[in-house]
Amino acid sequence: MTPLLQVSHVSKSFGGIRANQDISLQVADGEIVGIIGPNGSGKTTLFNSIVGYHPIDTGSITFRGEELSRLRVPHIARRGLLRTFQQTRIYKKMTCVENMLISRPHTNETLGTMLADFDDADYQEAYDLLELVGLYAKRNLQAGELSFGQQKLLEFAMALMNKPRMLLLDEPTAGINPTLINGLLERLVYANRELGITLLVIEHNMRVIMSLAQRIYCLAHGQMLADGDPEAVRADPRVIDAYLGG
Ligand code: ADP
Repeated sequence: MTPLLQVSHVSKSFGGIRANQDISLQVADGEIVGIIGPNGSGKTTLFNSIVGYHPIDTGSITFRGEELSRLRVPHIARRGLLRTFQQTRIYKKMTCVENMLISRPHTNETLGTMLADFDDADYQEAYDLLELVGLYAKRNLQAGELSFGQQKLLEFAMALMNKPRMLLLDEPTAGINPTLINGLLERLVYANRELGITLLVIEHNMRVIMSLAQRIYCLAHGQMLADGDPEAVRADPRVIDAYLGG
């Protein structure tokens, strides 16, 4: 069966820095797959290549069988493939529900005129997703008043407003306290199982990725070092070496 996402022999350099070298991976529809690797190993570069943030040098990336490597971010997003960021990208002076509404693809240029366009059904959808991430009670608060962990939950809910088929999550639990981490993990699993969203997750927290992912890829120095089921990857001497050495 064709994988949902197929990355084949992708390389990307920045000047003399070979950030990704001959990277291949596949994600099947419905999977939760992890990406680990020391800092600077090329994880974020790979995400940016997949969602069209920058062109790749060589290789191919297909999503639902369609070649993506010539498309840019909005076109790829419209096909149902989105990423989130390590640092949240929310408007701190706007309310939670306003952030939700404007996270949708839109045609108007200014935020003010954009907000006037939404109807009751749009608000209901935003409220339902805020409820899902436990932020309904805070819907009318400015997003900047939320804790960092809550802002990450809001960003996740904003991504869901786009009805993605697949989400790439960049360190979803970074900077979140342990209580909220469990809540976030439950929501990720819910989105996967109940909403049918395939997840590819960069994560530094081994406990988190071991419990979440069905398979893990490990990058080091821009190359694919190991892949397989989480226990096998964690026990792989090359992976242990890359972390201890890197
Ligand atoms: P990771 O996400 O695993 O920490 P990155 O993909 O951010 O790794 O970085 C891999 C390498 O590519 C690093 O050496 C980084 O400095 C370099 N790099 C990433 N993005 C850029 C860029 N836009 N310009 C120049 N170098 C970059």
